[in-house]
This record gives sequence, structure tokens and C-alpha cells, in this order.
Amino acid sequence: MFDVVISGAGPAGSRCAQVLAEQGYEVALLERDVNWRKPCGGAVSSRIFKYYPQLRKLGYHPITGVTIYSGDYHKLQYSWKNVRDYSINVDRLEFDNILRNFAVDAGAHLFNKNLSLDFITKNKKKIGIKTKTPSGTKDYLGQILIVADGMSSKLAPKSELRGKWQIDEIGLCKCAIMKGENNLDKNAISLFFRAYKGYGWIFPLDEKSFNIGCGTWLDENLKTNLNQAYSEFLNDPHIKQFFPKSKYEEIWSAAYPIPALGVREKCLYGDNVLIIGDAAGFVSPISGEGIHPSVVSGNSAAEIATEALKQGDFSTQILKKYKQYPNIKKIIRNFKMKVSMVEFLFENQGLNLSKMFELADAEDSIREEVINMFLFNTPPSKELLLRIKS
Ligand SMILES: Cc1cc2nc3c(=O)[nH]c(=O)nc-3n(C[C@H](O)[C@H](O)[C@H](O)COP(=O)(O)OP(=O)(O)OC[C@H]3O[C@@H](n4cnc5c(N)ncnc54)[C@H](O)[C@@H]3O)c2cc1C
Repeated sequence: MFDVVISGAGPAGSRCAQVLAEQGYEVALLERDVNWRKPCGGAVSSRIFKYYPQLRKLGYHPITGVTIYSGDYHKLQYSWKNVRDYSINVDRLEFDNILRNFAVDAGAHLFNKNLSLDFITKNKKKIGIKTKTPSGTKDYLGQILIVADGMSSKLAPKSELRGKWQIDEIGLCKCAIMKGENNLDKNAISLFFRAYKGYGWIFPLDEKSFNIGCGTWLDENLKTNLNQAYSEFLNDPHIKQFFPKSKYEEIWSAAYPIPALGVREKCLYGDNVLIIGDAAGFVSPISGEGIHPSVVSGNSAAEIATEALKQGDFSTQILKKYKQYPNIKKIIRNFKMKVSMVEFLFENQGLNLSKMFELADAEDSIREEVINMFLFNTPPSKELLLRIKS
């Protein structure tokens, strides 16, 4: 019997396992495959160093700028050097294993090649997680069960806390790591909002390799074919200008869904169950940033689980504090603001965003407001929204 069983050793699960193991608890961290590279852009805010100071020593190249394009390629460029934390671009295969190893070093028990199938129940109470392994099935019993297995979670819809994702409440993305000579600014990332509900990105990884991808959002998933959107994005002359060579080596590519409507507040906790990371919607609805919020959710859930273990009380009465945790409340609030902006940004074939950038070009105060909205979670003023609409 473990104190805590966590399904999924991505950033959310690994962080949660590490914090609990550091407190001396027995933690089972179940992972279907440590050699899976999570489809992702891999851009991470250096705010993550607050949770992982050890990462500072790994010498990631600092990203201190962003160029954001509207659907008609009106652009807004910003360098935040010395203004806010920088970002790093990571390869998720490597990065996720670094975070897993931190959990293992802290004393968590990592069980690879374990695909969580369902909860084990006794007298209607969830007492463990059943997994499929190469040699059969295995049961892991625990006082607290934490669902951290991302968008493909089999447990979350069986938790009775939330249903399956609907196609119009997620994003669908395709991305690749490519290699070859390019004209990218190695200190900046580029985001490309589309004329339809969706966006693309290019994130440099090193001198020659880069992560490139795009996705469709919400109801657009029903209208646009992802493979076609991806191919059009790669072949768009505005994108091709960064890539002078006729051929680029594709190191890896994959498609994957992403939560698009912010945190599913009602699904965060139940009796001796917590849901964290992507499985609970901890992804920014505008930028798609989910690594840092997932780590925050994993950290907060671990602190609440610690309190529950100390008191020997795993009921919703104690676990509901996870949702009330200041960092979690802040994320929920920020993401709600962003959800309300998504419709606006994509209205009129993306022309609202284009107009916003046009106004930002003309007036410094508007430029600051727009930057604050994208980078510092400050809602835009009513005056600005009205000016864009007029
Ligand atoms: C295409 C794309 C691009 C993105 N780009 C960015 C970006 O640039 N920056 C950013 O911050 N965020 C980005 N995100 C979001 C980010 O990838 C996620 O928010 C983040 O990975 C969530 O972490 P997690 O631990 O909750 O879930 P995951 O990272 O998905 O980890 C879940 C873990 O659970 C395992 N697992 C799954 N099912 C089972 C099971 N049944 N049993 C056992 N184990 C299981 C998986 O193998 C995985 O290791 C992107 C997402 C997508 C899809």
C-alpha cells in the first residue's frame, strides 16, 4: 500500500511525486512509456526555476523576445530582456526524463511500462489504480490517487469528476522538430495567429534545430483538416522566408490534443482523488502554455495531499483546498480572462488582432497594453476593445 499513487509521469505528475517523496511519503509514479516524446512546442517560462533551481545549471539558452503575427501577418515584436523572466526551449523527451529523475532521486517509485486502465474500487471507494504491463495487469493501492496522465487520461473520465473531452472544447495540434540552416532569431520565439481559429509557432532549439507546429481551436476543429492546415502553414511564403534551403531533416513529428478552455474547475478533486495538469485543463487558452501551470498544479496538489496525509483525512473537505490554493486560484482567474479573449481575437477572420497590432504600432500606450495582455495576463481596457471594434 502506497501513501499516494500518481498516474502519469509528465511535468505535473513528476513534480507532485517529488514534493510528496521529499516529505517522506511512499509514492508510486505510474508511467506508460518514459521514451514517449510529448508532442509539444517545448517553450517554458524560466519561472519554472522557482520549482526546479537545479535546471539553471543545465545552461539552457535564454529566450528574451517574441514576435506575434496576426492572420494577415501584421506583426508585434517585443524583447523583454531585463523586464521579466526569460524562457527556455526544451526537447520534451529529454526534459520530461530530467523531471522524472528529480522525483526518483527524492525517493518516488517510478513504474515504467504501466498503462493506467481504471480505478480499483471497494465498497464504492476508489482504493487504487489498475494498470496494464507487458506481462499482464498490476494493482497499485494508495490512500490518495492522483490523475496526472494528460489529455489521453483513461482515469479522468472514469473519476466521475468530469466527462470525456468534446472536440469543440480542445485544440488539435501537429508539430515537428526539424533541422537545417535557417534565418530564425535564436533569442526569440514566433507565434502566428491564423485567419481561422488557430495558431502556429516556431521555437528555435539550437543553431540548426527548431520546433515548428500549428493547431486548430474549438469549433474550428470541425471545419479544418489539421494535416492540411499544417502543410499550408509550412508552405506559406511568410514562413518559408525563415528557411532558405529546399530540404529540412524532420527529426520527429506528431499530432496531439490540448485543453483549450482553461481549468475544469469542477473536476479538480473528489474523495481521495485529485486531478492535475492537462487532465484538469491547466493550459493557457491563448498561448497553449501548459508546462509551468502543470508543475504549479502538481506542486499545489502535493502540498494539499501532504496536509491530508498528516490528518489521515482524504475527504473532499480537505482536498477541496487544492482549488482554493492561491496559485491555483490565480491560474483559474487568468485563464478565464484568456478564454473570454479568444473569441474576440479570432472574430472577423482574425482582423480584430490585426487591428489591435495596427493600433499598437501607432500608439505606445496601446502597444504596452497589448504586450501586458499577452505577456503579463492583464485584461485589455474596454476603450481598446471598442476602438478595435470601431
Ligand atoms: C502540440 C502541443 C504544443 C504545446 N506547446 C507547449 C509549449 O510550447 N509550452 C508549454 O508550456 N506547453 C505546451 N503545450 C502544453 C503542454 O505540453 C502540456 O500542458 C503539459 O505537457 C502538461 O503536462 P502534464 O504532466 O499534465 O501532461 P503530459 O505532459 O501529457 O504528461 C502525461 C504523462 O502521462 C503518461 N500517460 C498518459 N496516459 C497514461 C496512462 N493511461 N497510464 C500511465 N501513464 C500515462 C504520458 O506518457 C505522459 O508522460 C503544448 C501541447 C501540445 C499538444
